[in-house]
Amino acid sequence: MSARDHRLVFFGPPGAGKGTQARRLASEFGFAHISTGAILRKIIRADTPLGQEARRYINDGNLVPDRIVRILAEDAILDEDFSGFILDGYPRTLQQAEWLQEFLQSQNMSLTVAINFVLTDEEVISRLSQRRIHRLTGENFHLSNKPPPPEEAEFMISRSDDQPEAIQQRLKIYYRDTHPLVEYYHFRGLLCSIDASGAFSEVQSKICEVLQLP
Ligand code: AMP
Repeated sequence: MSARDHRLVFFGPPGAGKGTQARRLASEFGFAHISTGAILRKIIRADTPLGQEARRYINDGNLVPDRIVRILAEDAILDEDFSGFILDGYPRTLQQAEWLQEFLQSQNMSLTVAINFVLTDEEVISRLSQRRIHRLTGENFHLSNKPPPPEEAEFMISRSDDQPEAIQQRLKIYYRDTHPLVEYYHFRGLLCSIDASGAFSEVQSKICEVLQLP
């Protein structure tokens, strides 16, 4: 199968590596990488009215209201002609999952696979508290596993929602709102759960195997 044949959802707890894996698959196989988190951060930087509304939710570790992310996600899917995309971090609630299904169905389409990234809470906390992002390139680092080059230290920032209180809140919200997607996609025969605790390359191999990509 090729990337164009797929319509994928990546979901899981924060820090599970969904974004990193999606970025790599996009550059290697030509998937469109649709990250609602990245789109939201962009409109926050642009300081649009929607961005101002979204900022409060994100900084506190809460989900942005469904009605806002729905518009952003559907516009992005439309831009890709309904195929060849990875939705990274959308849907995050059952309501969003229902809307997504209806939206695809309106074009006689459906998802091909929903990949559930499985990671323990301890690992989530360790990864997020040590995550650093390059202010200019957006590249992700981890203070122990992938330390930033010393000469780039001044460009490293920690996301405002990677602070301890926001991490706890994001985990709580994950279990309440997003984890029910496991059952939702299992019931529809779309679920594929992947152990996300291994090295980047191991996780990538598992995903490629599932997607039948070389
Ligand atoms: P991410 O970059 O995927 O970790 O997303 C960062 C933050 O953006 C999340 O913690 C949420 O506050 C918000 N966000 C991203 N995607 C969604 C979504 N599908 N529904 C609600 N909020 C979202």
